[in-house]
Amino acid sequence: MINIHQIKEEICDIGRRIYNKGFAAANDGNISYRVDENRVVCTPTQICKGFMKPDDLCVVDMEGNQIAGHRKRTSEILLHVTIMKRRPEVKSVVHCHPPHATAFGIAREAIPQCILPEVDIFMGDVPIAKYAIPGGQGFADTILPFVDKTNIVVQANHGTVSWGPTVERAYWLTELLDAYCRILLISRDLGKVDYFTKQEAEELLDLKSKWGIDDPRIGMKNCELCANDVFRESWKETGVGHRAFSPPTFKSGADASPEKEKSAASATSAEQEALVKAITDRVLEALNQRR
Ligand SMILES: [Zn+2]
Repeated sequence: MINIHQIKEEICDIGRRIYNKGFAAANDGNISYRVDENRVVCTPTQICKGFMKPDDLCVVDMEGNQIAGHRKRTSEILLHVTIMKRRPEVKSVVHCHPPHATAFGIAREAIPQCILPEVDIFMGDVPIAKYAIPGGQGFADTILPFVDKTNIVVQANHGTVSWGPTVERAYWLTELLDAYCRILLISRDLGKVDYFTKQEAEELLDLKSKWGIDDPRIGMKNCELCANDVFRESWKETGVGHRAFSPPTFKSGADASPEKEKSAASATSAEQEALVKAITDRVLEALNQRR
């Protein structure tokens, strides 16, 4: 039988970790755990996640109506119960505003894959859901196109929401995603982002299927392994695209050498600038010679 007090302690503990990581400023963020068929423990509204006590937490039903607790439940509870209804095996949902992952949702920049093995194996492709005013069912419904295919979503111009079988497992994806997005931004600042080769990407997918971790890309033929095509259909509506990052596409065919595509796709702006300068220099030199 589930020990509700222990669940509340765990929510407070994850709340401290979220706050200390800078994932929830002031009173931002909310956490929930489904204790049985029709009861969900959740964080209250207007409370700093870093300083909660078990007694501060609320209990709601699966419609989001408050059934226990002296504080008012979070205003974003519909997001949590909507995920739990669609994925009955999900016990916990964590929503917060981790800065690096949220930045990708503001820039509407598709999060590239084929860069870090752990990310590809444990997280996979991460979609960006369209923007909606927080709080209502319309906001909760923005994750519906993705909820069956992933355990973490970036919410455009807002934050992230992740879910799992325990509070820690749900939170863990958020931490993994934000660390990844931070590394991406730092690498890009250094001027060069290298991606896995087609062979390296396929080896990782093989490893995933060996470990029994599903990935929509497993078994795809002639696909664009590293170009986020899993959620590409949603890009039109959300305005998401590859602008800051340009992952290589690995298409099969005589003219598609992965190595060639890889080097072309990872050409940095510094390299492009050098090329433009070389061409300009040659043109100027030719013009000077004519004079
Ligand atoms: Zn929020």
